[in-house]
Amino acid sequence: MSSINNKTYPIYRVCTACKQEKYITEFRYIGRFLLDGTRTKEAKCRICKQESQRDYFFTNRDRLNKKAKIRMKNLILKDPIVAKEKRLDWRRKGREELADWYVKKMLFREKITGSDIPIELVRVKRELMKLKRELKRTQ
Ligand SMILES: [Zn+2]
Repeated sequence: MSSINNKTYPIYRVCTACKQEKYITEFRYIGRFLLDGTRTKEAKCRICKQESQRDYFFTNRDRLNKKAKIRMKNLILKDPIVAKEKRLDWRRKGREELADWYVKKMLFREKITGSDIPIELVRVKRELMKLKRELKRTQ
């Protein structure tokens, strides 16, 4: 009964958070391959997972930031050149993909400050920045 051939592969799955039925590619994989060569998908869809990760970050912000700082410090001690490259890569990626921190930095320049800028504002700003970039490209 438990041979590979008997295993079924669903095409759709209902997300446990938003309760919507979505195509299986809307769910991320968890961890590594199992012994039979298959992998497990997460119970939450990509969007809900992203939201919950964001929530997790905000509720544990201080602890996570402290951890990241220690990790960076150790990396600098171990290999300063690699550490610098990593940091620059991370910044470049944030700028290109308009990550939350980058959009917030831009809001900060416009004198919109505070540690809890509403996520809606960040989203609006991100769309605005996307449009501006698109305009620059087509000019
Ligand atoms: Zn969902």
